[in-house]
Amino acid sequence: MKAQVLKKITSLDENPEPLELVDLPVPKPKQKEILIKVSTCGVCRTELDEIEGRVQPKLPIILGHEVVGRVKKLGPGATKFKEGDRVGIAWINSACEECYQCRRGNENLCKQFQGTGCHANGGYAEYTVVKEDFAYLIPERFSDLEAAPLLCAGAIGYRALKLTGMEDGETLALYGFGASNHLVFQVARYLYRNSKIFVFTRVRGDVHSKLAEKMGADWVGETGDKPPEKYNRAIDTTPVGGVIRAALENLEDGGRLIINNIRKETLIPELDYTKHLWYEKEVKSVTNITRKDVQEFLPLAAEIPITPEITEFKLEEANKALISLKQGKYRGAGVLSIADSSQYQSINYR
Ligand SMILES: [Zn+2]
Ligand SMILES: [Zn+2]
Repeated sequence: MKAQVLKKITSLDENPEPLELVDLPVPKPKQKEILIKVSTCGVCRTELDEIEGRVQPKLPIILGHEVVGRVKKLGPGATKFKEGDRVGIAWINSACEECYQCRRGNENLCKQFQGTGCHANGGYAEYTVVKEDFAYLIPERFSDLEAAPLLCAGAIGYRALKLTGMEDGETLALYGFGASNHLVFQVARYLYRNSKIFVFTRVRGDVHSKLAEKMGADWVGETGDKPPEKYNRAIDTTPVGGVIRAALENLEDGGRLIINNIRKETLIPELDYTKHLWYEKEVKSVTNITRKDVQEFLPLAAEIPITPEITEFKLEEANKALISLKQGKYRGAGVLSIADSSQYQSINYR
């Protein structure tokens, strides 16, 4: 099978082709695993962190944790799906299922948490295997391309939104408007109909701010701008440390900022306690994802229904997709198209 493999940690600025397209044997599903013929796989900022070493992957590794495909073969003892079912895999590849955190439903915090495309091979390939308990049926209303970004950008965005503690009528600020926040926007609009949503992007007039305007944000500006009023809840998806201070400056007393990012590429500047934190302002990070998040989010996404903004790349173009993501060149979510689309009628281009 064709696969894009990361063999060593490198800097994308110095090495624009970190992944190598190679031919590998199709993996065999072990006990309670399923073999999936991959159709699409989303491109996530976490891949940039893995390539550049801010997150340490097992090497060599096939990246990709927003995997959509069809069950090709059941491993011994696998009973949940049947051959041909359309399933997805998310960032959570496994957890110990026994520790204190796992027993409390916080499997995202398990010390033995394994990430798809990081500790176990992911979806930048024609086939992949996964434990059946860590795969999800994909709602019919989404094409293979549309479904991919729901599995991380969407589902973890949903987790971030839940963690804000948002209530209807409160104002929400979104810092960054890429793959995740443009989906969070649609969920928040649906769940909190009387709330205003403000969007901050890197530069006024960039592709992301234009998308936010098109989608009907109540106000769009760039990080550091003063919004028309303070907001109660905020979600930061940017790689920039300084955004945290900027976001706290405009946060209403008793408000909460959620940081939805595995690593910041730049340091968080010093905070002034009185200005940024006093009056019970809260800061909380999002770490990984639970199966429950994905299981709740997929049907909600279909009910809304969410329309992901997709930029499609071929598997062979994975390096180009990653560089474009790093440079903020495309809007919405990048998705690798892997299977020959003529095989699957459910790939509809809207
Ligand atoms: Zn991701
Ligand atoms: Zn555990």
